[in-house]
Amino acid sequence: MDEELDKIRRQIDDLNLRLLRLLEERADLVKQVAAVKSSIQAPACDPKREDRMITRLLEQSRGSLTDGQIIGLFRHIFSVFRNLAEQVGLEGLGVHLSRAPSATVVDVAGVKIGPGRPPAILAGPCALESQEQAEELLAYFTRELPADRFVFRCGLYKPRTSPYSFAGLGPQGLELVARLKKIYKIPVVSEITSPKLMDNFEGVIDLWQVGARNMTNFELLRELGRTRTPILLKRSYAATVEELLLAAEYIYAQGNPHIILCERGIRTFESWTRFTLDISAVPLVKSTSHLPIIVDISHSTGRPDLAGAVAGAALAAGADGIMVEVHPQPDRALSDGFQQLSLDQFARIKKVFFPSK
Ligand code: PEP
Ligand code: MN
Repeated sequence: MDEELDKIRRQIDDLNLRLLRLLEERADLVKQVAAVKSSIQAPACDPKREDRMITRLLEQSRGSLTDGQIIGLFRHIFSVFRNLAEQVGLEGLGVHLSRAPSATVVDVAGVKIGPGRPPAILAGPCALESQEQAEELLAYFTRELPADRFVFRCGLYKPRTSPYSFAGLGPQGLELVARLKKIYKIPVVSEITSPKLMDNFEGVIDLWQVGARNMTNFELLRELGRTRTPILLKRSYAATVEELLLAAEYIYAQGNPHIILCERGIRTFESWTRFTLDISAVPLVKSTSHLPIIVDISHSTGRPDLAGAVAGAALAAGADGIMVEVHPQPDRALSDGFQQLSLDQFARIKKVFFPSK
């Protein structure tokens, strides 16, 4: 009797081992499928295919298991493998941490942004309004900030919620920036809203910003991937961190590795701040991607009174820099006046970066 039982148990042990080997073989194939799918941006999960596989198995059933047992067993197997495929999907991305020998440092016309570098400060008005406005700020910034850590931000093409709001100086703004750069020798970041602007931005704007509203403008992302100009990709206020990384992948996959990510707040039910700064996005990105990430302390909060605390939090979380809106007269600003810092307010938050000063 015992012998009989031992014999059957040995057969079951053998079958377990064969099942394990078969499942391992299946896992390898699932990983291959996931890699192909990620290269063509196809969804990792295909529920219709799972249904077809179950139907086929039920047709081939010999009757030792009920249909319900077969369905339960295989649905479980599919779900375990789906998780595996999703992980492989992320690991297969060019922007994934495992895909670069070291963390990416992006060189924005001499300002190096990334790990191992002191945090960069991307500061300036929401929108460039006039030569006087820009010069008042630039005289201050170039005097007070180290040249290798400062990038001048200024919107020239502003996507505005209302079509009747001031939308930036456009081509005249680009000419003004070119003149200012000759005088102040500063790198400039500005938002690019369409591939049609690429020729005009070339040689004038050093860091091309993709705004939150354009994070999923895949045509724009692909076109920016064909350049070698550094790109600042802002997270949409309705996007997950994974979606941000996938948007970055659109640029990266076309051959442009010079990408800086930007957390700028997401939409929640909180109403005392303009958006909700998702500070955890910074370590999440750091643990998943080799790309640098900065934090926009202006659009995320919409509140100058929180700027110092939020800048400190960004640096504590490991951000490679911050973006902040500064205006010589915020109450006269043509856009986002309520959230822009005056020079006095900026001078106070500067202490977060230079505590000894
Ligand atoms: C900006 O930085 O000028 C801007 C419009 O920000 P966001 O795209 O994050 O709203
Ligand atoms: Mn703004």
